[in-house]
Amino acid sequence: MFEQGRPVFSLEVFPPKKDGSLDKVKTTLGELASLQPDYISVTYGAGGTAAGLSCELSAYLKQQLGVEPLAHLTCINSSRSQVEQVLGRMREEQIENVLALRGDRVPDVPPQKDFQHADELMRFIRQNYDFSLAGACYPEGHPDSADLQEDTQSLRLKQEAGAEYLVTQLFFDTDTYFHLLDRTAAAGVDLPIQPGIMPIVRLNQIQRTVALSSASLPAAFSKMISRYEQDPDGLYKAGIQYAVSQCLALLAGGAPGVHIYTMNNADVAKQVYAGIRTALGREEK
Ligand code: FAD
Repeated sequence: MFEQGRPVFSLEVFPPKKDGSLDKVKTTLGELASLQPDYISVTYGAGGTAAGLSCELSAYLKQQLGVEPLAHLTCINSSRSQVEQVLGRMREEQIENVLALRGDRVPDVPPQKDFQHADELMRFIRQNYDFSLAGACYPEGHPDSADLQEDTQSLRLKQEAGAEYLVTQLFFDTDTYFHLLDRTAAAGVDLPIQPGIMPIVRLNQIQRTVALSSASLPAAFSKMISRYEQDPDGLYKAGIQYAVSQCLALLAGGAPGVHIYTMNNADVAKQVYAGIRTALGREEK
């Protein structure tokens, strides 16, 4: 996809916490599929929960909707045999692309010993399977990294372990993406790096998102939030506009595509898509 010569447009969804609401996510996936994304990624529940649902949704995308899935897989809370089980199921479902991650340490799930870092999982998959591999990266550095140099070094390890491209954590300061490109290039990382953008359309997303991602908030973003604090409709529109502006600046600056964290909201994805369709090189329908 990254070699096709036009920006890669992709979306991320998460599975429901319980089986019950699977129908709702499937309806959302149908709506997202109408945007003809190059792929849709499906997250893997923190601590390895909902692993089956991630596989099921990836299979649904591939077999029922004809959309290429990118299945996330974390390893820190799984044994080697648990990882093998999930990969086996992915193979049965003809899933071809895996975003191989360490995962966050979760307080109530004791970490396992078989895999300590994403590059170990990647190496294991490379040696035993033929999935195409993606890895995660962090424009402002992963919170566990001592400094940006150490952070960049871990991306080099991912490249050496067989990652074919990287997807970034969300960020609101577009410059941080270009700084990431500079530091990775200087360290010999030459993989495509697809920026991940999360449209913030509700006030309650901010605290949660910032706490989870430790993304810094540029002045323009903070100004937008205070301006629309008491105006949910205004924030919805402004949040989409902010995400659209980020995507346009990234694409204009040469990003090889954009990945939208949809938070399972098809309307948000559609509105962002409408704002960037031309920049993605897609014809108006
Ligand atoms: P790693 O690459 O292992 O990096 C973690 C830390 O260890 C970094 O500080 C790094 O510098 C360091 N490090 C890396 N390799 C080594 C090494 N060999 N030796 C020493 N230090 C090393 N979480 C989920 O639970 N489910 C998901 O579906 C999910 N999807 C995500 C998608 C994207 C695009 C991103 C950016 C993150 C996602 N996460 C998800 C969150 C992710 O699991 C966490 O950020 C996690 O803390 C780190 O995962 P990683 O794969 O980047 O880890």
